[in-house]
Amino acid sequence: MPDADIAIIGGSGLYHLEGLEDVEEADIVTPFGAPSDIITIGTIQGRRVAFLPRHGRRHRISPSELPALANIYALKSLGVERVIAVSAVGSLREDIHPLDIVIPDQLIDHTSNRNNTFFTNGAVAHIALAEPFCPELRHALEQAARRANANFHNGGTCLVMEGPQFSTRAESHMYREWGADIIVMTTLPEAKLAREAEMCYIMLALVTDYDCWHPQYKSVTADIVLANLEKGITAAENILQLAIPLIPEEQNCSCPSVLQDALVTAPQDIPLETREQLHLLLEKYLDGGNNV
Ligand SMILES: [Zn+2]
Repeated sequence: MPDADIAIIGGSGLYHLEGLEDVEEADIVTPFGAPSDIITIGTIQGRRVAFLPRHGRRHRISPSELPALANIYALKSLGVERVIAVSAVGSLREDIHPLDIVIPDQLIDHTSNRNNTFFTNGAVAHIALAEPFCPELRHALEQAARRANANFHNGGTCLVMEGPQFSTRAESHMYREWGADIIVMTTLPEAKLAREAEMCYIMLALVTDYDCWHPQYKSVTADIVLANLEKGITAAENILQLAIPLIPEEQNCSCPSVLQDALVTAPQDIPLETREQLHLLLEKYLDGGNNV
């Protein structure tokens, strides 16, 4: 099996990654089913990078149907420690313009129909999520966005809605009152699952529209999103290419050890079947590392 330490999850408009050398492909099946598509693995500036198109290469998987558990587990099985997730988002603020880039620092979960944890079937864990994104990855993306001369916003609250329909106007106004700055359909449960899998996770958001709250702009439609994606996706790609060599090889954040304080069920009390299913996540917490 090929290996990688950084993964890029491509959202709408980003179905392959430029600049990958020595490319291999991995068709992985996990205990949680198959991921969204075959994962491409290659080298960019000496770093091993895996790329997974979140909706599949031909964009056939709706946000509510994304195999998020399989996606995160498959990346973990390749040895991935860092995940940069790219998404097209709507803006809920006047000063966050279409085609701007946002590196958010907070999330509001407004999804309603998704499996959002690895920890079920006799294994209970409550991970900390006060800061849902990795500070080291945020720093790398911020530096890259500066170098790319991008119009970017460092920080912001991203609301994740269920979809696939866009918001009603009343909802859009309500999300603004809640303090949300941008809106998306895909970042959760991905960010939570990456944290549970002890991987660093950050979001790179490309603004395509003003949702439907803005009185002067036409309400968002899939057409507007796709047209602006075509214009703006190169900015996101540019930031990714610059960010990869800026990511420290050693992790100095708390992401790789969150389960230490989060796992409530003693590993030996977790049913064997669940231990087998979560082997990749739990192995270092089981006696001798191979107790499954
Ligand atoms: Zn981290």
